[in-house]
Amino acid sequence: MNKVLIIGAGGVSNVVVHKCASLPEVFGEIVLASRTKSKCDTIAQGVKQRLNRDIITEALNADNVQETVALIKKHQPKLVINVALPYQDLAIMDACLETGVDYLDTANYEPKDEAKFEYKWQWAYQDKFKNAGLMALLGSGFDPGVTNIFCAYAQKHLFDEIHYVDIVDCNGGDHGKAFATNFNPEINIREITARGRYWENGNWESTDPLSVNQDFDFPGVGTRKMYLMYHEELESLCQNLKGLKRIRFWMTFGQEYLTHLRVMQNIGITRIDEVEYKGQKIVPIEFLKALLPDPGSLAENYTGKTSIGCVIEGLKDGKKVRKFIYNICDHAETYKEVGSQAISYTTGVPAMIGAKMILTGKWKQAGVYNIEQLDPDPFMDDLNKYGLPWHIEEWSSSVK
Ligand code: NDP
Repeated sequence: MNKVLIIGAGGVSNVVVHKCASLPEVFGEIVLASRTKSKCDTIAQGVKQRLNRDIITEALNADNVQETVALIKKHQPKLVINVALPYQDLAIMDACLETGVDYLDTANYEPKDEAKFEYKWQWAYQDKFKNAGLMALLGSGFDPGVTNIFCAYAQKHLFDEIHYVDIVDCNGGDHGKAFATNFNPEINIREITARGRYWENGNWESTDPLSVNQDFDFPGVGTRKMYLMYHEELESLCQNLKGLKRIRFWMTFGQEYLTHLRVMQNIGITRIDEVEYKGQKIVPIEFLKALLPDPGSLAENYTGKTSIGCVIEGLKDGKKVRKFIYNICDHAETYKEVGSQAISYTTGVPAMIGAKMILTGKWKQAGVYNIEQLDPDPFMDDLNKYGLPWHIEEWSSSVK
């Protein structure tokens, strides 16, 4: 029987645990461990009520490799699903190597004292995982994750050569709060306030934060202003797509959100370095996280939809082709199903599917992999089956 260890008990974890629990034939036993055990217990209670399955819960500080090693030895899972924070990625990978267990995450490693996410730290584990006969699957969320799979599917079935990719991400939902982030506030704000970057003809071009924007008509939502940002899947996709000339990432933000963000930046409360306050050292962005609504708490009154996809241009049989592959997800529906909003849902479902691909042997191979390096077909089938149906359209206008 397959046992999995899920680490982290936030918004994404709630979805992963529910989705794994609804497939007992794949996920025979589930252990949920996180820094605050009561949060694991709350998720376990929800799963018991909705699906009548028991989840084992444990307290764990995953920054401590030996603590994770001890927990893995106690429960002997086949796979660790890391939905804690990017800061824990390397420590959890180390624990997996020491105990001989496969690994999966949804966000690439980021050092705590520098707002910089890059794959180089995790790619450096390639030989260690290969030699141990273990698999590490990186970025099995929505973006990264499903967006990579959409590109892999396009490369396999729709194009001979892919030239331009624009990943477009819209949350058209409304949670009724003046300002809140949809996933971990600290990680989210660090990402959004970073310089924009995109890849063109082999070079990285950089832009001032949120300085480039344009309107885009998102299916299911309507026209919204989207902003050019750096996002981690660009780093692997620019290496894995044949013939690529340019890849960019865009995300929508409302004016109200941007105004709050600007003020917070100007007054210094998004800083990630330590400041002295009443004889104590505090990191302003960590304090800000404590003030902002817990992303999970937004779910109950969230209305509207997310609409995320890839506009892809290239050649098929010598002809220019442009396709848009996307998913639309409704906040109220995901709340009804698992008690979570759509951002957590669109991340948690692909994490479960990635885990299923490894446990059922469809993707299992030794080494460290980004998701577009694996066969997209069974994953695309499962997206339709487990709550994230996708659509492909001929797309008339290119992203400027
Ligand atoms: P949350 O902040 O809601 O949850 C994070 C959880 O990790 C919390 O339960 C937290 O515990 C726990 N945690 C933090 N540090 C440790 C530690 N040292 N040891 C054990 N547990 C720890 O985040 P989200 O659920 O919103 O996001 C989870 C992950 O998903 C993040 O890495 C995020 O970047 C990623 N993500 C990926 C997306 C994608 O599409 N690929 C989209 C959205 C998110 P505590 O409650 O005690 O703080």
